[in-house]
This record gives sequence, C-alpha cells and structure tokens, in this order.
Amino acid sequence: MLSPYMFDDELFGLGENGLYRTLKTCSQFKSSKLVLDGKKLINFSSNNYLGLAYDPVLKSAACRAIEKYGCGSTASRLMCGNLAFNEELEKRIARFKRTEAALTFSSGYMANIGTISALMGRRDVIFADKNNHASLVDGCILSRAKLMRYSHRDIKDLERILKNTGKYGRRLIVTDSLFSMDGDIAPLPDIIELAKQYNCMVMIDDAHATGVLGKTGRGSAEYFALPEGAIDIHMGTFGKALGSFGAYVAGSKKLIDFLINKARSFIFSTALPPSVIGSVIAAISIIETDNTRIKALNENVDYFRNHLRKAGFNILDTATQIIPLMVGENEKALQFSKLLMQNGIFAVPIRPPTVPSNTARIRFSITSAHRKEELSYTTKIIKKVGKKLNII
Ligand code: PMP
Repeated sequence: MLSPYMFDDELFGLGENGLYRTLKTCSQFKSSKLVLDGKKLINFSSNNYLGLAYDPVLKSAACRAIEKYGCGSTASRLMCGNLAFNEELEKRIARFKRTEAALTFSSGYMANIGTISALMGRRDVIFADKNNHASLVDGCILSRAKLMRYSHRDIKDLERILKNTGKYGRRLIVTDSLFSMDGDIAPLPDIIELAKQYNCMVMIDDAHATGVLGKTGRGSAEYFALPEGAIDIHMGTFGKALGSFGAYVAGSKKLIDFLINKARSFIFSTALPPSVIGSVIAAISIIETDNTRIKALNENVDYFRNHLRKAGFNILDTATQIIPLMVGENEKALQFSKLLMQNGIFAVPIRPPTVPSNTARIRFSITSAHRKEELSYTTKIIKKVGKKLNII
C-alpha cells in the first residue's frame, strides 16, 4: 500500500537543493501576456513563437474540423483512425519540409521515442549531443542501442567517438537542431559530412526550429541551405511555433513506411484529433504565404539579445528566439525569477536535471507578439535585478 510518508525524503531532498517544482495555474493567455495565479504578466516562457496559438484563422479551422469530423479520431491510425484529413496534413508537411513523405505523432515526445526505438536495436550504435532533449535521450535508452554522447556541438569530439565503432550494425547521429535550453544551433553541415564519412544516418529534432529557422520557416535544413535528402530523419512539433499540438517525422517514403510498421508510439496510440489537424494545416498555410510574423520575431530577438549582451550578461552562444540568461546557482535562479515576477514579468528558472549542475538559468523565449515597449521595459528590469543579485 502507498504510505503517506513514502516520498517525503526524496521530496525534502529536492527542496533542500532548490529543485522542488510546483505547478502554477494559468487562467488566460493572450498575445504576449498571461494571467498566472490571478496576476497579469508579460510572458517570456511560451513556445508560441509566432503567436499562432490564438490566431483567429487557426481557431476557426479547428472549429470547422470539429463540426465536420467530431472531437476525436476514435482509434489509432492502423485501426479506423486514419482520416483522409490526417493524410492531407502529412502531404502538407512533406511539401513544407521538402521531403518525400511525413507521418504525424501525438506529441514530440512520442515521435522521438517511437522513431529512435524503431530504427535502432541492441546491435546498433547512437551518437548523441550531450545537450539533446530528454525525449531523444529516452528514445535512445528505449532502443537498447549503445549510446555514445559527444560534447555539446563539438565536431572534433563527435569524430573522436565515431572512430573505432565498426563492430555495430546501424549507426545514427541524433541531435537537436535548435537547442531548447541554450538557444544555439547544431553544426549540421559538419555533422552531415561526418555522417557520410562514417556511414551514419542523421536525425534532427527541429521542435524549436519548425516555423522559425530559415527564410520561410522551414527549419534548420533551410537555415543551412542543405540539399534535399541531406538529413535522413526530420522530426518537429506542432505545439510550438505552429500554435497547436502533436508532431511529425518527415523523410523518405521508405522511412515512413518503416515507422508505420515499427514505431510503437505510432501504432498503439490514438490518432490526432480533427481539431488539431485543422489548426496545423491552417498554421502551415499562414507560414507558407506570409512571413511577417517571422520577420517580427527576428527583429524582437535581435533587440532583446543585443540589449542583454551589451549589459554584460552571459547568454551563451544563443543565435535564436531562445535566450538563456546564465545565473549559476539554483537558488539564485529562483530568486531572479521571483524578482521578475514582482515586476510583472514571467520567465522560468531552468535548473538541473533539465540543464547540467551549476548552470541554472532564466530562459527567455521571445515571440513575434512581444511589443517593443514590453521588451524595452523587460530589459531594464533584468538589468536592475542582475545588479541586485551581483550577476553583472
Ligand atoms: N523535442 C524538443 C527539443 C522539445 O523541446 C520538446 C518539448 N518541449 C519535445 C521534443 C517534445 O515535444 P512535445 O511537447 O510535443 O511532446
């Protein structure tokens, strides 16, 4: 029987180390604001990078899909849940990502664990960036393949571990393209070169890059102007810049055929609901035809990043809308976030195990919906707090 005291020591330990987490109740979000525990704040922690989550075009597309197909897809894709509407979405994704085919999953977490564990097995080897997202790590563990990790974005270290691994079967290099806690970008052209040399497949997690990176938001392959087919497996999510929910894997027809047959998180899970499919199709149409949101996002990012760098903060090598303000100690990060909140700003402290020890940070995520006055006010407050806590 579950004892009421069973978890106390562990929870107490988390509290002692500034790692205890609690849920905050959000009652509303609109534009760049949210209402949290009754207080209206400027929101710097949402992944709604293009403001599409509350776009009226997406909302009405979702409502139309509910009217036409109902609220649920009623079963997994291989049972009777395979709506033609879902296949239409997959064709749109393949066109958007410039791949032969695509497959939808219920979430990015499911896409990563399902894809990696389908492709790789006990006799295989995976080379993974040390800062990869937890869902990629969990996919690697689930696959039971040998997991070799290289230092963050370090091509020399990747080459070092690629050497002398000939005895394995399949070989996969897997990396976030835009790192979710650091805001920096994986050196994909170099990774692809090494993959050719050492006969590896390449999988990228474009969760934070989809809709954002590249001139037309097609992701990291467009950002680096990579030729079609240079990346074997593209994974991305609908829950961030695309303003909805769910995920995709895009690549060759053979890859998608294989995943339909082998990816357990695809096979044994209910298909995406019609409302989600409708809103994602609408989001892709907006991004394909109108790049004003991407332009506004890039302007906001440049403004915010330049101000923090000029003020002397360590914001790592961020090149994107994710801006980590390095604080170091867990307690200090909590304090920083609290002081921001007292000034009407919401930005979450990120602590281990999400990031390595002693690298606690405040993660700012910038969106196209932030207004210049909000960014200017926020950078002023950040400077004040940074001075008060002896960070600058
Ligand atoms: N990959 C990355 C890099 C992510 O940041 C996330 C979510 N934060 C995921 C995958 C998982 O996506 P989802 O939220 O759709 O499960």
